[in-house]
Amino acid sequence: MAVAAVQEDVKALVESLNFAQKVERSLALISEAYEEFGDGLVVANSLGKDSCVVWHLAKRVSPDIRGFIITTRFKPPETKQFMREEVARHPELQVFSSDEPVPDRLYETDPDRCCEILKVEPTRRAVEEMVVKCWVTGLRCTEGRTRTDFQEIEERDPGLIKLNPILIWHEREVWQYLALNGVPVNPLYAKGYRSLGCAPCTRITASPDERAGRWLGTSKCGGECGIHTRPLRPDYEI
Ligand code: SF4
Repeated sequence: MAVAAVQEDVKALVESLNFAQKVERSLALISEAYEEFGDGLVVANSLGKDSCVVWHLAKRVSPDIRGFIITTRFKPPETKQFMREEVARHPELQVFSSDEPVPDRLYETDPDRCCEILKVEPTRRAVEEMVVKCWVTGLRCTEGRTRTDFQEIEERDPGLIKLNPILIWHEREVWQYLALNGVPVNPLYAKGYRSLGCAPCTRITASPDERAGRWLGTSKCGGECGIHTRPLRPDYEI
């Protein structure tokens, strides 16, 4: 799967394609990548609503497609329970985490460092141990200010393709797909959360920005944990 020489204007596709066309496009992207990478194609399943869509789409392409989950000691109990249920349903999901000690309340004093230790490092380990050649994410370009400039097919780390098959979906289309297909979701959504992360860094807000409740009150507000912005191949660390 070549990174498109001329990237399509994905922002135009957000409005010009209808729901069914987006589903077909996403399935085709995963299918094409699976044909090329086979077992080297692995879904990064964050257990959020977007990942639930991508995971379901991937299973439609092939039940053999594997996935990994990155969890931390700070995930809410509801997320931990949902993770146990997902892994029981899909043993091909591998769970990675870090046991490294971190200073008390590092998530307040230096959330970037906290995420680096607890999220980015285990993601690097997952990529290496699962021999990932193409990782599949639930990124969407309408999620918030940090997600507007991604492409459906990227190669941010040399030799590691990143596929964002639902990049052009609206939030309402995510819920439309989940409802139409009866896909189980984390019960925290019923409480009003729109984007889920670790408990100390995730709040319910009334903001139109879907990710506004992430790292609220810190310099990282509405930002990124780092798995989409930091190098994932340690050899290429900058
Ligand atoms: S989301 Fe918060 S608690 Fe979780 S790893 Fe990042 S800073 Fe730490």
